Formats: sequence, C-alpha cells, structure tokens
Amino acid sequence: MPNHNGDAPHHNLYINGEWRAPLAEQYRPTIDPSTGETLGMIAQADIEDTRLAIKAARDAFDDGYWAQMAPGERSRLLHALVDAIEARQDEIAEAEMRDGGCTWRKAYLLDIPVGLIHFRHFAKLADMEPLEPVSQITFPAMSYNFVVREPIGVCAQIIPWNFPFLMAIWKMAPALAAGNTVVIKPATFTPLSLLKLTEIIHDTGLLPPGVFNVITGPGQVVGPELCTSPLVDKIAFTGSTEVGREIMQQAASTIKKVTLELGGKSPNIILEDADLDLAIDGSLWATFMHNGQACESGTRLFVPASIYDEFITRLVDRAAKLKLGHSSDGETDLGPLISAGQLKSVEEYIKLGIEEGATPVLLGKRPDAADLQNGYFISPTIFTDVDNSMRIAQEEIFGPVLCVIKYNGLEDAIRMANDTIYGLAAGVWSRDVDNAIGVARRIQAGTVWINDYHMINAEAPFGGYKQSGIGRELGTWGLKEYLEVKHIHVPLNNARSGKFWFDIVTPQLAD
Ligand code: NAP
Ligand code: MG
Repeated sequence: MPNHNGDAPHHNLYINGEWRAPLAEQYRPTIDPSTGETLGMIAQADIEDTRLAIKAARDAFDDGYWAQMAPGERSRLLHALVDAIEARQDEIAEAEMRDGGCTWRKAYLLDIPVGLIHFRHFAKLADMEPLEPVSQITFPAMSYNFVVREPIGVCAQIIPWNFPFLMAIWKMAPALAAGNTVVIKPATFTPLSLLKLTEIIHDTGLLPPGVFNVITGPGQVVGPELCTSPLVDKIAFTGSTEVGREIMQQAASTIKKVTLELGGKSPNIILEDADLDLAIDGSLWATFMHNGQACESGTRLFVPASIYDEFITRLVDRAAKLKLGHSSDGETDLGPLISAGQLKSVEEYIKLGIEEGATPVLLGKRPDAADLQNGYFISPTIFTDVDNSMRIAQEEIFGPVLCVIKYNGLEDAIRMANDTIYGLAAGVWSRDVDNAIGVARRIQAGTVWINDYHMINAEAPFGGYKQSGIGRELGTWGLKEYLEVKHIHVPLNNARSGKFWFDIVTPQLAD
C-alpha cells in the first residue's frame, strides 16, 4: 500500500494509553463519500501492531485493577466518560457525517444522541448487583449456592462502516461496563468517529492504560490475529454474514466466546387494515434510512393484493420525492453510498432484478447534478413483480433497493417472510394490534416492530435468529454477553456424615 503523505492529518494507533505510529509506518486515506475529499491519513496496523494492542489489553486485564474495581466505581467512571463525550458530541457528529456519508439530520437526531443514551445505559448497568442467589439446594448436599458474574477478559471488537459510532458504543460500552479490556477495530472506510471518541476518552485520563485500545487497519490482516490469538478471550463482530462465518471458524481454534451481528433481508408486512398514510411513509423509513445501508432494513415489502395498486402508486410517488445530496447539507434526505464498490454492487443488483423479471417501477440512477459527480450517489429503486425466490429478494443488497412482493392471504405472507436464511428484524403494519402481535409471534426474527421500524431501545435486546447472528446486544442481555458465570457452592454440613461422596470412592478408609 502506498505511503500517502498528503496534508491531511495523520491518525495513529491507540495502544496502552498512548498514540503510536504503526511499526511499518503505513497510512491510507479515509475519504468523504459525498465529495471524494481525503479527510485524514489512517494508520494501517499489521500483525505486530495488533499483537502489541492485544498484549496491552491482556496486561491491563491480568493486572486486575479494572476487572476487580468496585462496580459502583466503574459505573461512576463510565458516567464521567459519557459526560465528556456528550460535551464534545459535535466533533463526533462532524466526523460521522463526513467520513461515513451519514446525513446531518441522521447524525444529530439519531446516531449521536442514541449512542450517548446507549453508553449511559451500560454505565448504569456497570453498577448492577453481580451476585445472584441460587434457590435452596438440598441434594446432593444442603448448601448455600450463589452465582457471580465476572468479566471474560480481553475482548476484540470489529465494527462495520454503516453506523460507525453507534456500533462502536454497542461493543465497547458493555465490554468496559462488565470489567473487560478492549481492542477495537473500526471499518477501514469509517475510522474517524471512533478515533475522535478515543481522543476524547484519552483527554479525560479516566481509563487506565491498556484497558481500551484502538487499532485501524485492514480487517483481512488484523482480523485473523484478533480471532486466533490465545491472549484474546472473546470476539464481537458486526458486519457481513460471509466474514461472520470466517470469524467463527477462526475463533474455534481457541474456543473464544463469539457474538455476531450479521446481515438481514427483513420482511415488512402490510396488513389489509393498515393505516396507509403511516404504513407508506413507514415503509420508506424502513428501507431508505441511510440509503438502505442498515442490516435491519425492511427490504422485502409484503403488500396484500386487495390494496396493492393504490399502495404502490402512493409509495412510488413519495419515494421519487426523496432528495439526494451531500451528507452535510441539512436538506438532504439520502446521502451517498459508502464507496465506489458499494455503488457498483447496488447497480449490479438493479440490473440483476430486471434480468430476473422484476419491474423497476422506480429506477435508481446516478444524479446529473454537477456537485454530486464526485460522490457515490444513487436514487431509490422500487421493484414490483418480485418473487421471494429471486436473488434480489434473498441476498442483502445494502443500498436503496426495495423489493415489493404481492401476497394473497396472511398465511402466504408469513410463509414467504420466513423463507430466508436471515432473521434479524421485521415490521407489521395494522390497525388491529392484537392481530399484528399474532403475526409478530410467527416471524422468525430477533425484533419485530408493529406500526413502526428501526426502533432500537437501550433496554431491549437486538440481534438475529438464523444466519443473522449469535447473541444479543443492548438491554441486560447485551451486558451478559460480556460476563462469565461462576457458581460458588458453600456446604452447610462439613461433618463426614454430611458428605455423601465418602461412600463412593473412600468408604474403606472410614475410621
Ligand atoms: P464486512 O466486510 O463484513 O466488514 C465489517 C468489519 O469486518 C470491518 O471492520 C472489516 O474491516 C472487518 N473485516 C473484513 N474482513 C475481515 C476478516 N477476514 N476478519 C475479521 N474482520 C474482517 O462488512 P461491511 O461490508 O463493512 O458491512 C456491511 C455488512 O454488515 C452488511 O452485510 C450488514 O448487514 C452487516 N451489518 C450488520 C449489523 C447488525 O447489527 N447485524 C450492523 C451493521 C452491519 P475492513 O473495513 O478493514 O475491511
Ligand atoms: Mg470515509
């Protein structure tokens, strides 16, 4: 990789509480996908750098100071960190907007405030009672038993480019709250918000050296070291199902704990009695938030035959009005895709949909506007006449492409909704909430929203059924993924007569 020496600021690795240049002194640019402008030069860690970061995290964990800190004290510290991040949240929003193509409105109304809420949630949970009694045990021995939850150790965490700040919080906040140490790696396309967050954390001086380490660099180099190192205890990953499979295989060599948040092809089901005004705009929100670059997007829209024509006419009319633009423009509804490669991949899927026989009632195009020529822009596509078995209905496109599938009867809709390798999320739209709950119960997905979409709460679990992942993030479920469970047994009778095991191996030794 060339060693770019542009004027753009250079960003180093954060290891053992210090910023340090990568050993091989390699940097690569990160760009603004709205304009192609280079925003910074990012250190490219290699295996040796990765080992240094892992070692720092290992030593900080084994030292015991962080892991054994009183839960209340760790909670107080994390709350102070969130206060510091909140005070400088505009710097993070700016990084998120420029580096990842997140629109101004989405950064300020969603990603940054929600990230702060989620971090606070885990700061609060850090003070959770770590001791749980086990109900009375009389066999095999009258005893008092309790369970303590303890940190797992060194947690390696790999983040995708679509929600860089939020996904970093979902990983580091529960890991730190539980008393683990962390080596976190942002996606190559979007390192800046995590690096800004790290700068803020560093400036507070609140975390002991080595507790929190950040390495930037190619996933294909850094990832295998994180996933196979015997010094790492857990790997948490958000990204594609394809890389998730590789990670699971690599983690097998040392039986690491693994949590995976992977892809989706989520069904969004309109029932006949839905409030159409709400369901139509809700379907646009479900699909086109962040241009469809969200794992839980409702990209398969099931519409009943009885209201199909009216629904599609109104949906297309609204979708055609969405405004493409630079991410930092407050008027923009849809920003750029993340990269030239992603744009090409989306265009190939549009071509494939036409070849497969679907009808593009709204056909996505690159915009003509002169100021959008250097970014990776494409307007929304809506396909009708989609059969659920088509590749465009089964494969994750990760762009602004909506597949509409007509159904006759609810059983038909539920069968097709579940006919996918994924199971991350779903939507159901109906005025009859009881009926909608009945449908929700039959969908194989980790989250189902009724008359809503993308409503992810700090207190509720998020994660996938089937090939959408393993484990859950958020809620108390998200914290427990970062805690080991230890059972401690204390007998109430230590006399020989109270120990039934004397009679199994050593009865002849009895006095
Ligand atoms: P990706 O290629 O899987 O990359 C995700 C992360 O993994 C990046 O940090 C990447 O690093 C790293 N990586 C790449 N190859 C690796 C390897 N061999 N070992 C370890 N790490 C490796 O996915 P993406 O294209 O960035 O993100 C889009 C995908 O993520 C979509 O499929 C989407 O559904 C999924 N996603 C899921 C969720 C969820 O919550 N379930 C959330 C967001 C996204 P580099 O950037 O350096 O390549
Ligand atoms: Mg970038």
